[in-house]
Amino acid sequence: MFSEKLIQRLKNAYTVTVLTGAGISAESGVPTFRGKDGLWNKYPVEKLATIEALEKTPKLFWDFYNWRRELLATIKPNLGHYALVDIENYFEEFTLITQNVDNLHLDAGNKNILELHGNITKNRCTNCDDLTQMDPKESGIPKCRKCGAFLKPDVVLFGDPLNQNILRKAQEASSVCEVFISIGTSAEVEPAASLPFIAKGNGAFLVEINPEKTALSANADEVINLNASKALTHLTMILDRLR
Ligand code: NAD
Ligand code: ZN
Repeated sequence: MFSEKLIQRLKNAYTVTVLTGAGISAESGVPTFRGKDGLWNKYPVEKLATIEALEKTPKLFWDFYNWRRELLATIKPNLGHYALVDIENYFEEFTLITQNVDNLHLDAGNKNILELHGNITKNRCTNCDDLTQMDPKESGIPKCRKCGAFLKPDVVLFGDPLNQNILRKAQEASSVCEVFISIGTSAEVEPAASLPFIAKGNGAFLVEINPEKTALSANADEVINLNASKALTHLTMILDRLR
């Protein structure tokens, strides 16, 4: 499943960086954004996950987010998430960059996580920046407990800029690693899509784990065409043997 070359690279690696996308949570039952059962089929994304929707149609906006949160509250990390906790412990320096907002890497127990697109389990005040944990049972339009202004889910909405500090850390972790592993991402959404190329450009061994071919596959040093849970549990067994 893993080449001897990759095993040697991992054996000698001090710094490893991982990028995850919606695919790692697919086996937990988190719906993807697109595709036949995608979240966005009923309403176009431009109408829902935007600051304009929050301002102009707040009820529709919050019905959508409250529905997603209710769904996520019942969902648990899968073997792929847990394997990444073991993998983090194996390396001296490990960074987990995720495009997911579902909190499952934190639930599983990873420590050094960069949430590029934010976290749906929190709300942020649009006026005073106050950050609060959301209540999964909440319905209606929430307001800030401190200043009364509108809240927004602490995620990057379409048209929002990314948190520049987190992005800078992700770029840095990509540029210094010896092995970079891209897992369950279609590698199409920028700026995350550039991170594997930053890694490779700086000499990292680039690994992709995805059952489907992606925009990244042709550039990877090794492609593992398997589900994340299967590939990552196998990887933890290899690391156990190397220890
Ligand atoms: P994507 O939907 O574009 O791509 C998902 C990828 O996962 C596909 O390439 C697919 O082949 C692969 N995949 C499917 N099942 C897999 C499995 N079991 N193991 C490994 N790979 C598997 O997702 P993306 O690249 O993350 O980009 C979409 C955007 O949508 C991101 O911005 C992300 O923030 C957001 N999103 C987040 C969540 C979440 O938080 N769980 C869910 C949906 C979308
Ligand atoms: Zn406030």
